Amino acid sequence: MNKQLLLLISLQELDILKKDKKNEEEVGFELEDLKEIEEARVKLVSELPDHLYRKYTRLTKRYGNAVVPVVNKICQGCYLVFPTQMISPEQKNETVTTCPSCGRILYWAD
Ligand SMILES: [Zn+2]
Repeated sequence: MNKQLLLLISLQELDILKKDKKNEEEVGFELEDLKEIEEARVKLVSELPDHLYRKYTRLTKRYGNAVVPVVNKICQGCYLVFPTQMISPEQKNETVTTCPSCGRILYWAD
């Protein structure tokens, strides 16, 4: 898989984890885990090219999830069905692709 794509997926996982921890915190959990997540996040972001991080931030603000899987040729963000010829099997997950309809960053889960 494309390294940048992998970084973006990991970044989103961290953000989801962070959100969960913040919710836990409200009911009285430790701050220590959150600090670790934050540190891992800084490291990830430093490895990502600026334009991709900006895209990720913009998409997260807009939709809540910036990176979505494509399952059975369907974008799981907006449910657009991709024409088969749009992506050749070799291209799958080898480049950072965005959905032509919603603009989210895509990865192929099948
Ligand atoms: Zn889409």
